[in-house]
Parts: sequence; structure tokens; C-alpha cells
Amino acid sequence: MMRRIIGSPISAGLAAGHAVVVNAQEVPVETYPVDNVDREVVRLTRALKGAKSDLQALQKRLHGEFGSGEAEIFATHYSMLDDPYLIEDIVQRIKRDRINVEAAIAQSVDEFTRRLSELDDPYLREREQDIRDIGQRLLRHAGGYSSARLSTLAANSIIVATELMPSDLVELDYRCLSGFVVEHCGATSHIAILARALGIPAVSGIAHLPALVSSGQYLLLDGDSGAVVVEPSFSSIQGFRQQQSRRRAREQAARVDAQLPCQLADGTAISLLANLGRPSEEELLALASLDGVGLLRTEFLFLEHGEPPSEDLQARVYGDIAARCHGTTVIRTLDLGGDKFPLFLERDLESNPNLGVRGLRFSLTAGESLFRNQVRAILRVAAEHSIAIMFPMVVGVDDVRTAKAMVLEMAEAMELQSLPPVGALIETPAAVLMIDDILDHIDFVGIGSNDLTQFMLAADRNAQTTAEDYSVLHPSVLRAINAVIVAANRKAKPVSICGEAASQPQLAGLFVGMGVRRLSMSPKLGAAVKQRLRQLTLAQLQALAADVLSASSSAQITEVLAAMKVAGQHS
Ligand code: PEP
Ligand code: MG
Repeated sequence: MMRRIIGSPISAGLAAGHAVVVNAQEVPVETYPVDNVDREVVRLTRALKGAKSDLQALQKRLHGEFGSGEAEIFATHYSMLDDPYLIEDIVQRIKRDRINVEAAIAQSVDEFTRRLSELDDPYLREREQDIRDIGQRLLRHAGGYSSARLSTLAANSIIVATELMPSDLVELDYRCLSGFVVEHCGATSHIAILARALGIPAVSGIAHLPALVSSGQYLLLDGDSGAVVVEPSFSSIQGFRQQQSRRRAREQAARVDAQLPCQLADGTAISLLANLGRPSEEELLALASLDGVGLLRTEFLFLEHGEPPSEDLQARVYGDIAARCHGTTVIRTLDLGGDKFPLFLERDLESNPNLGVRGLRFSLTAGESLFRNQVRAILRVAAEHSIAIMFPMVVGVDDVRTAKAMVLEMAEAMELQSLPPVGALIETPAAVLMIDDILDHIDFVGIGSNDLTQFMLAADRNAQTTAEDYSVLHPSVLRAINAVIVAANRKAKPVSICGEAASQPQLAGLFVGMGVRRLSMSPKLGAAVKQRLRQLTLAQLQALAADVLSASSSAQITEVLAAMKVAGQHS
């Protein structure tokens, strides 16, 4: 009988196929005492060698098929196998407790994952899965188990699993994989990132999954809405096929639109820029049709490894991205501290990390040497590419001046001929109120609507309990954004929006009406924004902005935007 289950979408797209149910099959671990501990250490060395050669093969395979972005995931796994803390911990357990290598590996992995799971940062919490993945790989090599868990798959399969590991997805023949459904996995976990990069529709967040679906059952999976239909009726299958062909037509239209310039119906040009973190190959390819990188979030380089990234590594990563971008690459200096804390630093417990030693405050105090190292790497790249530097979490003139003076001093020491443009990310209420003064010290501003919303409204951007109150549509937030845009335009300094709000087509139009000409967003979301902007004139958007700015409640603003949406659809 047909059943519909609703989960959370983690990778967009529609898939139909037969279920292959896999339950978590962790390698069983026995603990036993050993006399010869040296032998166990040698077994560990062998397991490490075997696991590394697996990972190199996987990396090579992914690199050949998708390029560097995805292969990096296994580079991260590889570097975990070199992590002296992990390896030392396993060796210590063998020697101290005189136990077999398998037990020592399992205990160390448990300890490391427990510590990661206690962290506040959801990104780091999800690295827990990576540690368990490498733990399983090491155990397989230590015990001589075969790694083929999902190596044979019939065409059009949909995997249904309690949990999938990144290496599961790569080791299987994913051309036969139409989609997958898992019980739990966050939107920023590596498995979700990989699924999106491979274009495999996926849904998560369905409890007791293997009990709800049996192998062989036919499934319809909607990675856009999160719905999974088990044993669909004939009419559902027909409806699904129509949905699939409409989606294909939309994708085709967006591909055609990607070639069109981003301009309003009256010809006003708008620059579409990319927000990037660790970029996937697909995102790097998308840079060809965008006007530059408006925000490179550099934290990924600091959060994934057990040690700070070297100046050389940073220069290489920034240079690779800048080389793929045909406009300017705006590199945001590290926004560390708060909930984004590197494993290699001692952390002080802060009662409110979002308001703690983070962003530029961290860079100018405890993080100064990391900051200086990063700026040197950026300046090296700026000698060859079009680069701009942007400081996060600015609160006024003093922090901006101090940070800029350091950049100047380093540029002089490096004997650079010219300084790249230096800008501030405006994401605190303090910076909004100080905008005129800040603008006198910098070359451009970005508006970080994500943090600005949380700080204007005193509503945590990550918490479920404040989800309803956290809204960029609050009149105070929109008025603050407008004030920054007006001030920047008055002083003829470039201004962009780089929070998530810029990627919502309706809001993108609103910001253009306020006076912005540069919108920065995840590269995938640019096509829909462009489609919308091409239908509207500047006069229409300015009128919309005036209406929105005179509204005194979020409800009123939602109404004004909804009326505009309908008008836009008819025009
Ligand atoms: C923002 O706060 O809007 C922003 C662009 O920075 P992040 O989302 O990285 O905090
Ligand atoms: Mg921010």
C-alpha cells in the first residue's frame, strides 16, 4: 500500500527507483589482552598504510571525475590519519592498557567523537562522522575485513540507510544510484555536500527508516521537498514523471538564462557575485558566469585540521580560487572564535560565544598571529590577482583602523607596490550607526544580513526557539540595511549584500530598489535571482523599497512583497 513519509531535503532533485536497505554494519570489535604490544603497534602502522592507500585511490577517482573540491573530503580523512593526537592516543592505549589494536582504535575513535559531539558548532559536530568513517576503515585494515559494503548495486537503486559514510557513497558505483534516504545527517555534513556535488537527490531526518521500507520496494524521492513515497500508486508515478519533466525544463531555462547578462528590464546592470566556503568544482565552474567572488569565507581552512594552515597553503588555496574567478575575489579574514573554534587552540569557556572573542576582535587579540599569517598569504596572492580584503564583525573606527594599519605595515614589509582594496563587513548594529565614519577609512562595504539580523533583534540565528523571531523582514533590519546602502552610495563606495537574504529573489529586488548593485550569494542560487531581476525595472523596485521602508511591521512588509510578487508574475 502506498505510504508517504516526510523528511528533510538535503540534496535537491527527483529520483525514482527500487529501495536497497542497508543497515549500519559496523565492524565488530573484540577487546583482548596482549603480551606483545610492539606487534600491535606494527599492526597499527600497517592498518594506517592500508587506509591511506585506500584514501589515495578514492581521492584519485573523485579528482578524475569531479575535480579538486570533492576529492578534498578524502584529503581531510587522509590528514586525520596523520593527526598525531589521534595516532598517539591509539598507541598510548595499546601500551598503557596492553590491549589489541582494534580495541584501541575503537576506544580512541569513541573518545574523539564524544568530544566533537559536545561542541556547539554544528559543522564540527558533523566531522564526528568523518572520524567514525576513518575509524571503520582502520578497523577493516587491522582485522583484514573487506571494504565492500555496497560495492554491487543494480541500476536505479535508492539506498535506504540508518547512516551513510562519505566513503560509502564514493566506493559504490554511484551511476547506479538514483538517490538515498538516511535517518540522520545534517545539511552541512560531508555526505550532504557530496550528494549535492554529485547531483544525487537525498532526504534525511526520517526516524526508524529501515523498519519503514524494505529492499525491492519502489520509491519516489523528492529531494526538493523532503517527501518519500513508498509503493506509489500508478497516478502518483504519473504525477511524479510530470514533475520531473517540468523540473528538467526549468533547469534547461536556467541554463539558457545563465548566458544572459544580469540586468533589470530597463537595462540597469547588477553584479552577481559568489559566496564561497570550501568551493566545490561545480561552484568553481559557476564562477565563469558570475562577476566575481563577493565573500570567501576562509574559516574552513582553520576548522578542519589539527594545526593552523600554513601561509603557503593559504596562498595556494586563495590563488586557485582567484585564478578561476574573472572579477575580484573578496577574501574575508578569519571569522574565528565564538562557535567556530579551531581544534588547535585552547578555548576559554564563554557564556555567550556569539558575543565573545570572535571575528575581528579575535584577530586583533588572541588570534593576532593567525591573522597576520593570513593577511601575508592574501597579500602574496594580491600581487598576481584581483583581490580585496574584508574584515568581519567590525564594530567601529578603532578596530578597522588597527586592522588596516597591520595590513599596511605587512604590505610595506613585503615591498608591495599597491595595497588591495580593504573593506568592512557590516553585521553589527554598532557598525550600522558608525557607518559614515567607517566609510572614511575603507574602500568598500559588504552587508552581512545573517548576523546583522541576529544582533539587531537579539535572536540567535541558529536556535530553533528563536526561529520565528529571527527575520530579515523586521523593519529595523531592513532600515539598518538601507541606512548602510544610502551612506555608502553617498560616499561613492561600493556596497554589496552577502547574507543569505540576497539569494531570495524578492529580497534581492528590494535591495536593488534601496540602491545596491552588487549581490553575493551561493553560486547555485544566482539563476533564480537573475530571472526575477530581469522582469523588473528600477522604478518599480525603488517604489517597492519606499513602501517597505515606510512599513512598521514584518507582517506589513510581507504583504507589500507578496503584492509585488503577483505584479511581477503578471508583468
Ligand atoms: C553574515 O553574517 O551575513 C555573513 C555574510 O557572514 P556569515 O554568514 O559567514 O556569518
Ligand atoms: Mg557573519
